Amino acid sequence: MDKLNVLVVGAGIGGLTAALCLARRGHAVQILEQSAEVTTTGAGIQLSPNCTRVLHSLGLAGELAAAACMPDAIEIRYWRDARLIASAPLGHGITAKFGSPYYHIHRADLAQLLFEEVSKCCGIHCSATVDRVLDDGREVSALIGSTTYKADLLIGADGIHSTVKNTCLSDEKPRFTGNIAWRATVPASQFASLTSTTQLWWGPGKHIVYYPISRGELINCVCIVEKSGWQRESWTEKGELSELQADFSGWHESITALLASVNSESCFKWALFDRDPLPRWCTGRVSLLGDACHPTLPFMAQGAAMAIEDAAVLAACLGDRSDIAASLMRYQNLRMARTKRIQRVSRRNAYVFHMSGMVSAVRNVLAGRMLADTMDWLYGYDALRSN
Ligand SMILES: Cc1cc2nc3c(=O)[nH]c(=O)nc-3n(C[C@H](O)[C@H](O)[C@H](O)COP(=O)(O)OP(=O)(O)OC[C@H]3O[C@@H](n4cnc5c(N)ncnc54)[C@H](O)[C@@H]3O)c2cc1C
Repeated sequence: MDKLNVLVVGAGIGGLTAALCLARRGHAVQILEQSAEVTTTGAGIQLSPNCTRVLHSLGLAGELAAAACMPDAIEIRYWRDARLIASAPLGHGITAKFGSPYYHIHRADLAQLLFEEVSKCCGIHCSATVDRVLDDGREVSALIGSTTYKADLLIGADGIHSTVKNTCLSDEKPRFTGNIAWRATVPASQFASLTSTTQLWWGPGKHIVYYPISRGELINCVCIVEKSGWQRESWTEKGELSELQADFSGWHESITALLASVNSESCFKWALFDRDPLPRWCTGRVSLLGDACHPTLPFMAQGAAMAIEDAAVLAACLGDRSDIAASLMRYQNLRMARTKRIQRVSRRNAYVFHMSGMVSAVRNVLAGRMLADTMDWLYGYDALRSN
């Protein structure tokens, strides 16, 4: 296998993991990131066994275990009376079943531990916004103002609004889904009994997920509400706590008590955008990865997990210098069906989670079976063995 020069555009979770997977195989990697520093805002993220398996293979098991929380179970509850709709064990049982743990972690902790590893073996250029990408068949160039970076291949891990996608593959724009996501944290000390499970509560037109992060010090809340009008997509857009609380008024008292304890400085809102699956992710020496090629709504908590899986498969597909286009196509073909399925089920969940009336009663009866089946195919996938 030749050692290749690779440019990765974007230092999100996908770009950092891709850089690490490639560097571990001996390739020379440079990351171009538009932000002034590599940080991830936003609070919690769920890491399921299908992606912790990849992170462990990169030697990050100890760091992850130290920074993350391992929930005992997931419980799905009904918005008005808190009754249990369905549950499934997580914790050590899931680690034993799938060979890798289920964690909750603060995004900043995950970004930090990836960044520390990446900075030991890759070049990272911040304040580097890629304007254009040119592939002349012999090498590929990323253009940043008057500066040009050249490489054997380029990976666009630059998120849902990907410039790499727009300039090389398709200029289809994301569209607003009609849902907004509130994100907020609560000091866990006030809710000691809540800290060992993932809680998912379903209600008409909205749902809430909450779970412990930051070594159990905080409870991370993600509250998704169907709403029209406001459409900004940003990790740093502050939201009015009173609006969040009003969105969940009438819900069970344990939810209103939780939201009454949100620190208003930690309250953010984000409009959820979506794109249809792309017919192709690569052309010549350029390929996409993560949200750039398959933005995934957070109704399965799998967007970052898919980017992490992509990274492992892409690195394993690369072969000789003469084969770059074929290797990238092989990666695309190995990943497309799974990511399409997860995009589709995430979209479907946007409808299922928010049902009301009789149809929600039927859903509640089927929920336990649906949860168990999904966990099997979702967590059982091994990106390290997929090619
Ligand atoms: C509310 C919410 C909750 C979620 N919860 C979960 C969860 O629990 N589990 C899970 O797996 N997923 C979750 N997701 C999804 C997950 O956050 C995303 O799928 C994931 O972050 C995508 O990572 P990425 O690296 O592909 O893209 P991004 O995180 O968008 O990173 C793209 C990077 O590229 C940079 N960039 C963009 N354009 C350029 C350019 N032209 N030049 C240079 N750099 C550029 C950006 O600055 C950024 O750093 C959630 C999403 C939301 C909104």
